Amino acid sequence: MQIGRWNHQSGGDGQARGSTSPSRGSYGGERSYSSRPQERRGSSPYRSSGGRGGDFGGRSGGYSRGRAPARGRGFGVFGETEAEISKFMNKTVVTTEEPVFVPEHKFSDFDINAHLKANIIARGYELPTPIQDKSIPHALLGQDIVGLAETGTGKTAAFLIPLIDKVMKQKGERILIMAPTRELAVQIEQELAGFAKGLGFRGMVAVGGANIGPQISALRHNPAFVIGTPGRLKDLMERKALVLTDFGTVVLDEADRMLDMGFIDDMRTILATMRKERHTLFFSATMSKEIERLIGEFLSNPVVISVKTRDTSKNIDQDVVRIPRGADKFEVLVDLMQNREFSKVLIFGRTKFGVEKLAKELSRRHIHAESIHGNKTYGARIRALEAFKHGKVVALVATDVAARGLDIPAVTHVINYDLPSTYEDYVHRIGRTGRAAHKGKALTFVQGR
Ligand code: AMP
Repeated sequence: MQIGRWNHQSGGDGQARGSTSPSRGSYGGERSYSSRPQERRGSSPYRSSGGRGGDFGGRSGGYSRGRAPARGRGFGVFGETEAEISKFMNKTVVTTEEPVFVPEHKFSDFDINAHLKANIIARGYELPTPIQDKSIPHALLGQDIVGLAETGTGKTAAFLIPLIDKVMKQKGERILIMAPTRELAVQIEQELAGFAKGLGFRGMVAVGGANIGPQISALRHNPAFVIGTPGRLKDLMERKALVLTDFGTVVLDEADRMLDMGFIDDMRTILATMRKERHTLFFSATMSKEIERLIGEFLSNPVVISVKTRDTSKNIDQDVVRIPRGADKFEVLVDLMQNREFSKVLIFGRTKFGVEKLAKELSRRHIHAESIHGNKTYGARIRALEAFKHGKVVALVATDVAARGLDIPAVTHVINYDLPSTYEDYVHRIGRTGRAAHKGKALTFVQGR
């Protein structure tokens, strides 16, 4: 972990959380995805063997793991070369125990509203996570913050706790939170509602894909927290429903993703409308030249806190499933899903159409699946997400954009049914499993050559 003034350090490596050094030889021994019949939903025995070149054996397709002849990079896909494929195969090496993080602070140490403290405890938070431990004291002092942290590190509470306290201490203070996706905005609002219980205010969500009328009405009540996606926020500004000069604080959550999604102009317009002497908190999972430029543009002398942990990847057992030419990868997926161990599976596809079709085909095969992608209405996406979260379906098939930032507890497996576009997307995808102290598994389908 790093902590320091922005001026004094570069603060990042420009890599997508480069925590997964290729080490596929390091996982030894044979492993079974539960071949015991009583643990399986279906009847087909299924095994994977660890280590290089092992077989996902026994099946007619003989899909396997290991080496295949190298091929040139395909257009817009990561994982077409052997060097890239090796990055999908880092095995969890559980040889040494990670040192337990000992926070410097307890929640009780923070000089925050007593009721807020009680709400934090009531939510079951015992100790601050590293990002909370390091950033909350600075945020409470009103300092600008750059948090290099991904979803799963507790970054949401890292900004919500000091900002709720601020709203309690400074009457009339209003907070704007920008997030890349509707789902993330809704999650932030839900977390806010938990912390703000009984404190006399709530936030509102301003996202696209939902009717703008109720959002305009909600804004008339001057909510203390407005959480939205840049496009809709700008729309609301243009309609004069959202007056940003009232806001003294702004959070940019997952700024790197907002940049990737082409929100940069909207972000600039929104921030340019806000007061210059505002309080700005900026969170990004990755550091790049563009992100560095944005930090220079939007923040003033920020404290930089990096918790780009290795934990996410260390908790994730990664491997590839090689599908020989001519074999049907859908059947491979169906086969895998027969295994009881695959009980909460997030499956990634590349296109909205493909994702929709895959979910339907799985359901037709009695593997209950929901889909989440940009062609679905906001309500349908939330319903799909809730069904998956609560175990009503075993699989959620998603596009990258739709799944970004989702916090779904206890995902057992991430399956890259289609290859991701970039290694960064890969890291984001697999980061949906292996959260908190859980172990997770990530399997990437690689088509035969
Ligand atoms: P986030 O990185 O903000 O998406 O948070 C990931 C998950 O960790 C969420 O389910 C939070 O409710 C949970 N969480 C955040 N901070 C803590 C904490 N200090 N103790 C326990 N759980 C936490």
